[in-house]
Amino acid sequence: MSDGQRVLILGGGLAGLSFAIALATAAPTLDVTLLEAHPFRSGTPNPMDTRGSALNLHSVELLKRWDLWSSLRSYTGAISDIHVSHRGHFGSALMTAEELDVPALGYVVENHELGRALLARAEQLGVNVRAPVRCVSLATSAEKPAVLIDEGGRLTADLVLLAAGVAKDWFEELGIGVEERPTGNHAVVFNASFPGVQRGRAFERFTPHGPLAVLPLPSLARSEQRFNVVWSVPDKEIETLISLENETFISAFQNAFGWRLGRVSDVGQRSQWPLLRLIASEQYRSGFLLVGNAAHTLHPVAGQGLNLSLREADLLASALAIAVREGQPIGQLGSLKRYLEQATDEQHFITRSTDLLATLFNRRGPLLDAPRNLSLVLLDLVPAARARVANLGIGQRSAGNALG
Ligand SMILES: Cc1cc2nc3c(=O)[nH]c(=O)nc-3n(C[C@H](O)[C@H](O)[C@H](O)COP(=O)(O)OP(=O)(O)OC[C@H]3O[C@@H](n4cnc5c(N)ncnc54)[C@H](O)[C@@H]3O)c2cc1C
Repeated sequence: MSDGQRVLILGGGLAGLSFAIALATAAPTLDVTLLEAHPFRSGTPNPMDTRGSALNLHSVELLKRWDLWSSLRSYTGAISDIHVSHRGHFGSALMTAEELDVPALGYVVENHELGRALLARAEQLGVNVRAPVRCVSLATSAEKPAVLIDEGGRLTADLVLLAAGVAKDWFEELGIGVEERPTGNHAVVFNASFPGVQRGRAFERFTPHGPLAVLPLPSLARSEQRFNVVWSVPDKEIETLISLENETFISAFQNAFGWRLGRVSDVGQRSQWPLLRLIASEQYRSGFLLVGNAAHTLHPVAGQGLNLSLREADLLASALAIAVREGQPIGQLGSLKRYLEQATDEQHFITRSTDLLATLFNRRGPLLDAPRNLSLVLLDLVPAARARVANLGIGQRSAGNALG
């Protein structure tokens, strides 16, 4: 039953849907409506053309709490260990789930399966999901935030979550700036298959242009292993690489990745993503709260963006549940202050770790050039990961992605 307070979520991507579920779970009396500009996709894509996200253990705990994990688990690939190496140098390291005493270091979920499960759960929890409905402008001057939609009409709410990705026009309307930090590199993202049984090993190979991450996807056949690849390359090489014939592309990838998984049997469609970091200078104005990629777009190769959004969805849901219980207006700064402090703290932590990971081996210098120094750096990374996983139990800090 609604207590009269309304949350409007603009954007039905993975972040928007996750916030809807977190709010509907923690504060069931809120009236939650979500608008998505595009129709939700149905059907199953070609398994070689899917996209995947690595979920850390904290995200898995949240998905369990939101009653989603049991339906998703069979669509995920468990990461049992991570092999870390530095291209052109000797030395590598292996971080294992066993060593950290956890069932897996993380799980790679196919985005279309995660999206499908989130949508079904949101509807089951009574979220009013409307698609395709596009928000065309924001109304900031009235007492409560409102939006205008393409089918005509104005929707008013107590709190509006902007989960529509990086919509710079809206930021301008709200008077919010964006800090943009490009790296001069792009990521080529695709699925690759290799012969053999999937054993759940992820690979993180550092190159001068950033990491090359190869993440295990769930198996479709016993004799073939499928992986999701995020490969950092310089901006000036991206167009040529993307348009190579399959065979030439496969040999370029094999050359960059090596032969640890044997000969590449096939690759799927390639997509390209600029490697940059975008952070909104503020996240809240006049009843509008930026969430997901709208608030922070991170270097994709570190696989942290969605994990951070899930953590923030949980924090916001707790804050709003308290406000509802105490009869406070959910859209006012007083109700959101604690959330904003916690979210900013999380974001600083994750962006710092992500930047470190993305640029660790970019700089050539005596410290990072010698092979033995790779293991020195890893000595720092591994205990950090260990500590973050260990902190899960007491919920101090979101656990880093298995690769972070
Ligand atoms: C290559 C790559 C790999 C990644 N890997 C990982 C990973 O391993 N782990 C991880 O945690 N994160 C990862 N991320 C980050 C993660 O994918 C995103 O953080 C996550 O998808 C959240 O996106 P979002 O929902 O905020 O934005 P989007 O996905 O951009 O969704 C925004 C939605 O809003 C809708 N919309 C836009 N305008 C309007 C409007 N006017 N009205 C209504 N609706 C509108 C859009 O149609 C869209 O559906 C990766 C990102 C990339 C690019």
